[in-house]
Amino acid sequence: MTLEVRVSEPLTIMAVHAHPDDESIGTGGILARYADEGVRTILVTCTGGEVGEIADAAMATPDNLADIRERELRLACEILGVAHLELLGYRDSGMVGTPDNEHPRAFARTDLDQATGQLVALVRRYRPQVLVTYDENGFYGHPDHIQANRIAARAFRLSGDPSAYPEQSLEPWTPRKLYYTAVARSRMAQFGERLAAHGIEPPLGDQQGEGDADVPPFGTPDELVTTVVDVGPYVERKRRALWAHATQMGPNVFFAKMPPPLFAELFGQETFQRVESRVEAPVPEADLFAGLR
Ligand SMILES: [Zn+2]
Repeated sequence: MTLEVRVSEPLTIMAVHAHPDDESIGTGGILARYADEGVRTILVTCTGGEVGEIADAAMATPDNLADIRERELRLACEILGVAHLELLGYRDSGMVGTPDNEHPRAFARTDLDQATGQLVALVRRYRPQVLVTYDENGFYGHPDHIQANRIAARAFRLSGDPSAYPEQSLEPWTPRKLYYTAVARSRMAQFGERLAAHGIEPPLGDQQGEGDADVPPFGTPDELVTTVVDVGPYVERKRRALWAHATQMGPNVFFAKMPPPLFAELFGQETFQRVESRVEAPVPEADLFAGLR
């Protein structure tokens, strides 16, 4: 199998996220860092975040929240140097078991082949070598995050297959590496301790996955984390990008309670599980483009 990267192909990363603000939380550091390194950064956001918070009633109403959040997202993209933002146009499905799950446009219940096709078309157009999304549990079980994982993993497999979605009339493109955002369980525990030391309650409360048989434990087993990217120099930009999502940053949100030095300490690294690689690159690695440049 020869999969030489053509010299003329610009290094490109595509991050696939469910809601506005997810890009900043999980991948804000790598988006900023790679943009600065001259990598083309593509963000795909699947829903409008219609079911999100409204930090202050003066900011938005449930009816215009998606419009406001799109503006916030565009500002975050500017801060992070995202080259292209693509919106898939689905509706936020809300947390599991809520009536928003049943909305006809809810992302989580959308036709998988159709949604995958949308992403395959974007992969074929932008030709990313690296694709990043959540793990199969969407990190914390949110149905839209799980759906984003499904379509990204399928697009990784299908984009290079000429028999998949031939009606698109786009040249097939085979991405080289697939990553899931991954926080090691040991790091989750440290994270909780550092927050507790500052009197801040951890964001996922007491449901850290223990004691509830239906919820897999949060975080990734340490041995599955393959890739640790230093984003220390970019952590302030990541913080600003996150804060651009002002409707989501009410005073009770744990991010809002974190003093900037603690934020820098806890978010100065972004960590990933390399799920597939079609290039030779030994793990552990410190760069999502290892083996590609
Ligand atoms: Zn989300």
